[in-house]
Amino acid sequence: MLCVDTHCHVQMKQFDNDRSEVLARAREHLQWLVVVGDDLEGSRAACMLTGDRVYAAVGYHPYNATQWREHGDERLRELAERPTVVAIGEIGLDYFNEYAPRAVQKPGFEQQLVLAAELQLPAVIHCREAEEDTIAILRAHAPYPQPCVMHCFGGDASFAAQCSELGCYISFAGNVTYPKAEKLREAARVVPTDRLLVETDAPYLAPQCRRGKRCEPADARHTLSFLAELKDMDQDELGLQIIMNAEAAFNISLQIS
Ligand SMILES: [Zn+2]
Ligand SMILES: [Zn+2]
Repeated sequence: MLCVDTHCHVQMKQFDNDRSEVLARAREHLQWLVVVGDDLEGSRAACMLTGDRVYAAVGYHPYNATQWREHGDERLRELAERPTVVAIGEIGLDYFNEYAPRAVQKPGFEQQLVLAAELQLPAVIHCREAEEDTIAILRAHAPYPQPCVMHCFGGDASFAAQCSELGCYISFAGNVTYPKAEKLREAARVVPTDRLLVETDAPYLAPQCRRGKRCEPADARHTLSFLAELKDMDQDELGLQIIMNAEAAFNISLQIS
């Protein structure tokens, strides 16, 4: 099966006991994966896992926007300049869990967007219940040298259309497979196939067939099959399209055999 995981957190403690097995299963089932940081330590740990079809993204999650403000950050730039780092992320706005005040989240998001543009890297964006401000900030900073990735898409079809118009890629995680997630499925139906990505956000959001278990990158293939059915496409045809999208998004070029 042709599949990638464009967003997972294998550096997190949930994988401390069996990380190498998890990565071995990922390499068996996936062409490649991106391990995503959420603060400086997490970003460093993500970088440590790169090599052999594993890439990293580095950034401060909106949860950690206060740390970004305090460190704000030559050290992140140094990490971002490594050749196996393919994106700045995850960055963005989270008004559902407002762990940092909005007035701190917004400049953290904007400054890291500017860093991504400077380094000609895509930004991986986390947006939860903050659609309006996210779009406003993305519009204010457009155009981008590399299109942004809306990760673990959680909005509706109209937000998906606005993101596609801005040239963003839209990435669906396992929650699109949940019985109650009709709004996400409506969004997935309208996203043009050449803008679509798939991810796990592991250890979170295991797809329905593995729900309640710890999610791992190899589970991306279940979400891919689900999306193929939703879009009435052959699984490998959609898988190949998503790999091409993901390689364009993250500037990765691999020979697919
Ligand atoms: Zn996220
Ligand atoms: Zn994430």
